[in-house]
Order: sequence, then structure tokens, then C-alpha cells
Amino acid sequence: MITQSQLPRPHSCTTPMGELLVTHIGHASLLLQLNGKTIYNDPYGEVADFTGFPPADLILITHEHYDHLDIPELNKIRTADTTLIGTAAVAQEVAATEILHNGDTTSWNGISIEAAPAYNIHQKNADGEPFHPKGRGNGYILHLGSFRLYIAGDTELIPEMAGIAPPDIAFLPKNLPYTMSDDMFIEAARLLRPATLYPYHYFTLDKAALQGELAGITIMVHK
Ligand code: ZN
Ligand code: ZN
Repeated sequence: MITQSQLPRPHSCTTPMGELLVTHIGHASLLLQLNGKTIYNDPYGEVADFTGFPPADLILITHEHYDHLDIPELNKIRTADTTLIGTAAVAQEVAATEILHNGDTTSWNGISIEAAPAYNIHQKNADGEPFHPKGRGNGYILHLGSFRLYIAGDTELIPEMAGIAPPDIAFLPKNLPYTMSDDMFIEAARLLRPATLYPYHYFTLDKAALQGELAGITIMVHK
């Protein structure tokens, strides 16, 4: 768990909308900064105490699981002016959530935000239900002009990924049983062909081994 002063140095990207600063805080928690606007994805108290973090202009929540929707942490960065985008299940727990269903698109400060499917096909709980049923959770594709950033959410390699144009940046989850094995992660990355790939939501990571399998894709991990 880190605090505000221990935030890793962000990675800088050039987009048609200006410099984008990308910080993978940990697990599925992301911090994106663009033109003075602060965007978070899935702020989670296991990875950071969000006290003193920059106030959020926008918070994206992919789904209602405790490691993605952490209301006490959310409240540390949320202000009266924060836009919160999530799923129907998130809106049941947090009032004033703007709901996006899979396939929906909205616009926020010039950024087009598309909700992508995120679900399990193979990985199921003891009752035979997928850990993440189709249609319940979101990934998000952010369009900053022609620059595209894909946050996959808790998902396996799903057929819909074949329809996503190669993103400039992709965050893909890696861990079992909830998301992808290393082999599936590599297969998904080869299908998506992001310029830059951030593995996230992992417990263990062998960056060199992944990089060896994914020539031509820059794998980013904070030092
Ligand atoms: Zn989940
Ligand atoms: Zn998760």
C-alpha cells in the first residue's frame, strides 16, 4: 500500500489532446492526467491510501467487485464536481453514477469513452457461474482524438477483442482464476497489438518472459 508521496513517476505519452501522464498505482487502480484533468480507474485501498491524492474529475469503475469498487477510497478523491462512470451494479451502490452498458459511448471533456465487454468464458465459481458474467462488467476504451487507451477490466480473451483496433495503450489483466493465464494474456496481446502494454491486476509478473513473447509491443511496468 502506497501513500500520496510514494506515487511512482508517471509515464508520459503524446496524444492529439496533449501530454497524457499514465500511472499504474497497483492492481486495477490507474491515474491518468491530461490537460489538468485527473482521471482514475478503480481506486482500491489495498494498493494505496488515496488521502491527499489529486481530486478526481472523472472516476471510471469497471464493476462492483470489492477490488474495483472501494467506496471509502472513492470518497477520498471524489468531489461535488466529479463525474463517476460505472455499471448498473455500481450505480446500485453509489448514487449519481452515470451508467454505461457494454457498447455504450459517452463524451467527457472531449474524450470519447466507450464501454467494452469484460467477462469470463472458462473461469467459473463453484456454482458454475462465470466469475464475471457477460454484460455485467465494463472495460473502457478512451479516445483522445486518434489516440486510444483500452482498459480491459476483469476479462478473459473474448471474441470482441478482435473488433478493437490496435490501441496505443492497453491495460490487460493477468491472474487466475479471475482473469487470464499468462498464455491467454500473451494470446490477447497478440490479437490486440497495442503499441504499449501494461499488465495489471496481477499477483506475479515476469516482465522479461512476457516481453520475449511479445516482440514489437512495449511492456510497461513502473520501477
Ligand atoms: Zn472482478
Ligand atoms: Zn478484480
